Amino acid sequence: MPRAARKDSLPDQNTSPEATNRFALPFQNEPHTDFSRKENREAFQTALDDVASQLGSEFPVVIEGKSTESLNKIVSVNTSHRKQTVGTVASAMTEHAEQAIAAARRSFDAWRLTPAEQRAEYLEVMAAEMRNRRFELAAWEVYECGKPWADADGDVAEAIDFLVYYAQQMRDLAVPVQADYPGEENSHVYRSRGVCVVIAPWNFPLAILTGMTAAALVSGNTVIMKPAEQSSVVAAQLMSIARDAGLPRGVLNYLPGIGEEIGPVLVGSPDVDIIAFTGSRNVGLAINKLAADTDPRQSGVKRVIAEMGGKNAIIVDEDADLDEAVQGVLQSAFGYSGQKCSACSRVIVHAACYEAFLTRLQRATESLKVGPAEEPGTSVGPVIDKEAAERIKDYIEIGKAECRTVLATDVGKLANEGFYVGPHIFADVDTQSRIAQQEIFGPVVAVMKADNIDRAFAILNNTEYALTGGFYSRSPKNLQRARRELQVGNLYLNRPITGALVHRHPFGGYRYSGIGSKAGGRDYLLQFLIPVTVSENTLRRGFAPPPSDEPEE
Ligand code: NAD
Repeated sequence: MPRAARKDSLPDQNTSPEATNRFALPFQNEPHTDFSRKENREAFQTALDDVASQLGSEFPVVIEGKSTESLNKIVSVNTSHRKQTVGTVASAMTEHAEQAIAAARRSFDAWRLTPAEQRAEYLEVMAAEMRNRRFELAAWEVYECGKPWADADGDVAEAIDFLVYYAQQMRDLAVPVQADYPGEENSHVYRSRGVCVVIAPWNFPLAILTGMTAAALVSGNTVIMKPAEQSSVVAAQLMSIARDAGLPRGVLNYLPGIGEEIGPVLVGSPDVDIIAFTGSRNVGLAINKLAADTDPRQSGVKRVIAEMGGKNAIIVDEDADLDEAVQGVLQSAFGYSGQKCSACSRVIVHAACYEAFLTRLQRATESLKVGPAEEPGTSVGPVIDKEAAERIKDYIEIGKAECRTVLATDVGKLANEGFYVGPHIFADVDTQSRIAQQEIFGPVVAVMKADNIDRAFAILNNTEYALTGGFYSRSPKNLQRARRELQVGNLYLNRPITGALVHRHPFGGYRYSGIGSKAGGRDYLLQFLIPVTVSENTLRRGFAPPPSDEPEE
């Protein structure tokens, strides 16, 4: 039972909807911190100072509740100050992956038989602990992932939302759907699938990892949690929260390591039933392929949930409110240095306002302060690592060679301190060029001109991805067309295209952006469950033995 769970609040899994829903409150998103308030700024600074004194600690692999060392290590560095070590993490090897799978398999039967209500309460206890540690968790993100204050705070809030939301969703799903007929009882129920491998990216280091893990756990699956190399210390905090919540041993295992090394061992194992992945398209497709290659020892076809990349665009119509559009593009393109999967990396502007928009976007972008993530005034922090900085700079060179450079921000001496790339804006970009088609995942925006709205819609739809998209317009007719014609998983009208909230904006794409139901939405948990129908003929003819628990006459 979760440490903070009350015994009297544990109805059985199959109680009536009325009894179960007695405990349910309407879902509400965790509020974001108001940093205009002095007390919040001071509390956040205190958390940053506290965490700074813990930098350099060591974090082991955790299998079946036991901390395990490894000969290999991942040294996680502060992206804003490359010489500072955030933590040293044991890097799991093949034998650790095999042990973790075996532990998760052993724990599965007891966990799937744990009432759904109780599993939901574990998530709520974890959410409560995250609330207690909210600024501390955000501070780890500032150091390890270079998230500016508000971004880090928002990520922790989203992690809490996932825990609370999926707990509520599971309560609803645990109630059998009855479709009885005279003489026949029919129920539709869900069963857990088995062992789930969660493979996460670094860009929402707590939220995405927590979301996938919470969904798998609450639906009765046991989990091996493989965080991204670059955010393994933040992930270790999630593991410690799960342990503190009293989650039974082996139900959740923490397996930091190099994706290319242990990833295929996890995905290819015949003892794994689900792979919940979020990350790049190439890795997602490789996982999907490997998982589809069935091994005679496995008990069924593996379920792959893969949320992948994007090449998201915002269209600015001729009658758009340019003040709004500039702010929306600015926030969507350069927030967290363009490293959100939902980030805007293409802007398609109607010819009638093209130059005016470009000038305003350039001036607004120049006002953004590039700096270390721990400084409260920073709008654009560093990118995640050296490799990312080099890859983004290669795209910038392509942009300079092939397009009109509207803005090229020089980061000056910061380049020696951390992994900084300043905002870049390129105009007159060819719609088929590399910077218009490939995911850059950095603060680089490609602006394109469209002579009319048909052409603008065609350019937006002309990518292999379909994740997010936006449209600024005052025309009701064009807004209506956008709803029908723009091919994206999350369409945003007259607002920024980042910042999806659990329940309000269930998130996820299609085409090469994803093969799964939306995270933070009502269909998400179904992917972790097996639907089963039970039909019983209740007409008895002739002798019927008494129920076994009644004394025989
Ligand atoms: P990545 O694909 O490089 O890594 C993601 C995870 O996969 C990491 O944990 C990594 O260790 C692991 N991995 C790497 N190789 C593997 C292999 N061969 N087998 C199994 N696992 C392997 O992605 P990233 O750099 O961490 O994240 C950025 C990418 O994630 C971007 O493309 C972004 O668009 C995407 N993303 C998508 C969403 C979404 O909801 N659609 C959300 C966040 C990020």
